[in-house]
Amino acid sequence: MTQLAIIRCEKNQDKCPMTNCFRCLRGKKEGFAGYDDCMLIGVFTCRCPGDVAINLSKILKAKEAEAIHFCTCTFAQKTDKGWFVEDGGFCEDIDDIIGKVHKETGLPCVKGTAHLPKNYTPKTWT
Ligand code: SF4
Ligand code: SF4
Repeated sequence: MTQLAIIRCEKNQDKCPMTNCFRCLRGKKEGFAGYDDCMLIGVFTCRCPGDVAINLSKILKAKEAEAIHFCTCTFAQKTDKGWFVEDGGFCEDIDDIIGKVHKETGLPCVKGTAHLPKNYTPKTWT
């Protein structure tokens, strides 16, 4: 059983209650398809300019998170035709933030949760 945590973006916190993130994790789909078995052990909200994500991740590690996923809406946008990465999501710096979190915690970090864009394979920092 892999214990997972999710970091979301504050820009979406009043619009989305993470329903599809939770559904996909529970069903081991989309960004969570690679796990035989997994459970959610925590969720934190990143705040701009993003430095806080490092300390939040350290807390998640202390709570025994074994990997951290970052929400799809941080790097992809919803259109009439589905989700696309081309126009970006809520965060211009998400790769940089994920890289720092991985470096500081040593935890695997995965860019993606729910409704992955077509032809997108979750980028993972390991
Ligand atoms: S990835 Fe989707 S379900 Fe998860 S917080 Fe963003 S918009 Fe909501
Ligand atoms: S730094 Fe990026 S992920 Fe964090 S709150 Fe701001 S836009 Fe969202």
